[in-house]
Amino acid sequence: MLFKKFLFIFILALSFINLPSLSLAQEDHPEHPEYIVATTSQIGDLLKNILGDSEKIDFIMGPGIDPHLYRPTRSDMEKLLKADIIFYNGMNLEGKMEDLFHKLEKEKPVIAITDALEERELNTFSKDGKPEYDPHIWMNVANWIAATNLVKSTLSKGKWTNILQTKTDTYIDLLKDLDEVIRKQIATIPEEKRVLVTAHDAFGYLGSAYGLDVIGIQGISTESEAGIKRIEEIVDILVERKIPAVFIETSVGDHNIKAIIEGAAAMGHKVTIGGHLYSDAMGEEDTPEGTYIGMMKHNVTTITNALNSELQEK
Ligand SMILES: [Zn+2]
Repeated sequence: MLFKKFLFIFILALSFINLPSLSLAQEDHPEHPEYIVATTSQIGDLLKNILGDSEKIDFIMGPGIDPHLYRPTRSDMEKLLKADIIFYNGMNLEGKMEDLFHKLEKEKPVIAITDALEERELNTFSKDGKPEYDPHIWMNVANWIAATNLVKSTLSKGKWTNILQTKTDTYIDLLKDLDEVIRKQIATIPEEKRVLVTAHDAFGYLGSAYGLDVIGIQGISTESEAGIKRIEEIVDILVERKIPAVFIETSVGDHNIKAIIEGAAAMGHKVTIGGHLYSDAMGEEDTPEGTYIGMMKHNVTTITNALNSELQEK
């Protein structure tokens, strides 16, 4: 009896000794991500679509946020430090956070989704005489499918392996349908009117994939201001091609767009604001535009309706 009691205490003691080592063993497996943090809401939405609406997924840039200028808050830093894995856009979209990502990648997986694309699939532009890549890859749905596959293959080593394949397949089918919808809608705009003027150059991939001439007043990043010469050049194009509308972006100020409209009016050509577009940020959560698919549909419907509108008489 005494022996049994001793044995019981001995086993109990053993189990206590084992407890800490068990939890250490779990923490030692970063390939089983528990808490995933994304920078942009687009990437957050992608994660939710292929993993389910998990409370383990967070993103730091909400509606109306301009990623080019964004600096992480204290609570963002807490999320990024706590994260088991981080997904960001890359190619300098989150220009003020690149150094931070390079530091964090020494401790945990920090994945740029633009790595999903081959060099030949990327649009380039010149900055201070040097070639750089356009980071706004989500504007071509084919790129977003590639990003979805990259995220899936990165996470497929984790505990979500079983649900990932089915959910990814379903999401990619939805993305293929979206691609088709965009193609059909843009095709309804007369070719000479397929010119998209926006506050900054976020729509280059939309233009090259679906056949629109894209003009961003401020260039690829919102960091640089547009000069008067740039405004005049764009006004000339609008007048020459009789373009009826220009567009506001939800994450960028509209002062340049207003200057263009006034410039065209001074030359006797009426240009209207065709509506607001979601460029670098999506709409409010729990609205259709708060998802990637909804945001793209909103943009393309707004562009198509405005560019198809009857030209105003002079
Ligand atoms: Zn941008």
